[in-house]
Amino acid sequence: MTDTVDAVVIGAGFGGLAAALALAEGGLTVRLHERLKYPGGCASTFERQGYRFEAGATLFSGFADDQLFGRWIKRYGLDVTVDWIDPLVEFRTPERSLVVGRDRAAFVESLCAAPGAPAAGIRAFFAEQRRVADVLWEILDEPELLPPFNVAALLAHAKRIPRYLPLLRHIGRPVRADLERHGIADHRPLVEYLDGLCQITVQCGVDEAESPFALGTIDYYYRGTGHVRGGIGSLAWGLLKGLEVAGGEACMADGVTGLRREGDAWVVSSRGGDVRARHVVANMLPHDVARLLGDGDDGLAALRRSLAKTARRVDDGWGACMLYLATRPPAEADDQAHHLELVADPTAPYLEGNHVFCSISGAHDGARAPDGQRTITVSTHVPMKSLATQDDEGVAASIAAIQERMRATIATLAPEWWAGVTHELTASPRTFERFTGRHQGLVGGIPRRAGWLPYLRLLETPRARGLHLVGDSVFPGQSTLAVALGGVRTAARILH
Ligand SMILES: Cc1cc2nc3c(=O)[nH]c(=O)nc-3n(C[C@H](O)[C@H](O)[C@H](O)COP(=O)(O)OP(=O)(O)OC[C@H]3O[C@@H](n4cnc5c(N)ncnc54)[C@H](O)[C@@H]3O)c2cc1C
Repeated sequence: MTDTVDAVVIGAGFGGLAAALALAEGGLTVRLHERLKYPGGCASTFERQGYRFEAGATLFSGFADDQLFGRWIKRYGLDVTVDWIDPLVEFRTPERSLVVGRDRAAFVESLCAAPGAPAAGIRAFFAEQRRVADVLWEILDEPELLPPFNVAALLAHAKRIPRYLPLLRHIGRPVRADLERHGIADHRPLVEYLDGLCQITVQCGVDEAESPFALGTIDYYYRGTGHVRGGIGSLAWGLLKGLEVAGGEACMADGVTGLRREGDAWVVSSRGGDVRARHVVANMLPHDVARLLGDGDDGLAALRRSLAKTARRVDDGWGACMLYLATRPPAEADDQAHHLELVADPTAPYLEGNHVFCSISGAHDGARAPDGQRTITVSTHVPMKSLATQDDEGVAASIAAIQERMRATIATLAPEWWAGVTHELTASPRTFERFTGRHQGLVGGIPRRAGWLPYLRLLETPRARGLHLVGDSVFPGQSTLAVALGGVRTAARILH
C-alpha cells in the first residue's frame, strides 16, 4: 500500500532541510528524502580516509541569536559550535594582503590608510554600502518579510518605503557605477578585493554585479558570520535532529527516482517505494526536477516550460573545481580556523584556479584530521559553458589544468600552508554531479548580473499546484542562509 504524508521534501541540502523543518513545525506530516547518507549537499562535511572535509561551502552567516540558524540552534539545543574567528578572511595577491577582521570600521580604515588611497571616496562608498546592506539584511533577518507576503508583511514594507527609496539609484546598475560615482573605480586594492568578494557571493565581478545585491553581500562577513567547528555537517545533522523532534521523518540514502501527478496528489517514487503527498518541495535544480517528471501527457506542460526557462539561466553559471588537502600547520600558525582568498593575477578573470578560496580547519577541530594536521578545502569557479563545448578528453584535460593552477596559486600565495601538505583529494563538476545529483555539476545559482530583468525573474519560481522548488536556483538564491530562508518561506506558502 502507498504511504501518504502531507509533504515530501526531495533533497536535504539547506533549502530542503529548512523547508522540511518549517513544515514539520507547522504541524504537517513530512518525509524528507536524501540520496546521500549524509545531509547538507553543497554545504556538507564528508569523511574520507580518516579526514573530514567541507564539501563546498565553508564560511557561513546567520548565526547571531536573532538570525535563522542562531534561532534554530537555540530552539533545538543543537550541538553546533560557531567559532567567531578573527580575522574572518585574508585576501592575498602577489602585491598585497588585506586582512578582513571582525571590526568593519577598522577594516575600512585599513583600506584608507594604504599609501595613495582615496580615503574620502572609500569612506563614502562604504557608508553608502552599509546603508543599502542594512535595508536588505533586515529583510533577510526577518524571513516573514520575504515573499509570500501576507498583510502584516505588506504593511511592514509599506512603512519602510522611505528607507527603500535610496535603493532606486542602484537598481539595474553594476557596482562599478557606485565605485565610479565615489571616484574610486581605479583604486586597485579595493577593486580587486571587491571583485573577489562579488565573485564568491553574487557570482560575478564588480563590472557585472547588480549593485543592490553586491552592496548587500559586501557585508557578508559582518552578519552573524563564523566558522562551524567540526564542519557545516554538524549544523545539517542538527537540523535533521530538529526535524525528528518536530515529528518529521528523514529517509537518508533513499534518492527519489520519479515524480508524477495523480489526481490531487503527487506520487514520489524511491527505492523505498512510493509515497503520496499533497505537497512536494524539490530542493533540486530545475533540470533535475524535469528529469524526475519525465515526459508525459499529464497536464504539466506549463511547468516543464517554466523549468526549462529557469534551467537556461542556471546554465549561464558555474561549476566548481576543488582540492581537499591535509597539511601540517606551519610553526607560527595559531589555533583558529583560517580563510584565505588568493588571486594569482588580479588582471585576469577570477576563475579557473587564478582565484581560489581556501578554508583551513582550526586546531580545535581535532576530528577533522589525525596527528595535529589541518584540513583545507579549496575551491575555484569553472565556467560551464566552456566545458560544454569540449569532448570527454578535453574536459579531463581542462580540469587537470585548472587543478594544477589551483596548486600553483596556493604554493605561491600561501606557501606556509602548502609546504606541509600530506594528502590530496580532488573534485570537479562531475564529482558534484555524481554526489549531489546536480545537472552537470552546476553550483552557485544564477549570477546576479546588472539589469532590471533579474528582478522580474526573481519571483518567477517554477511551480505547479502542490509542487514547489527551493534552493540556489530560485529566490532568494545563493548561500546556505539564503536557500534556508527560501525553504522557510516556501513552507509558509504551503502552510497558509
Ligand atoms: C564550492 C562552493 C563554495 C561555497 N561557499 C559557500 C560559503 O562559504 N558560504 C555559503 O553560505 N555558501 C557557499 N556556497 C553556496 C552554498 O553551498 C549553496 O548556496 C547551498 O548549499 C545550496 O543549497 P541547496 O539546498 O540549494 O542545494 P544542494 O546543497 O545542492 O542540496 C540538494 C540536495 O538534494 C539531494 N538530492 C539531489 N537529487 C536528489 C534526489 N533525486 N533524491 C533525493 N535527494 C536528492 C542532494 O544530494 C543534496 O543533498 C558555496 C557553494 C560551492 C559549490
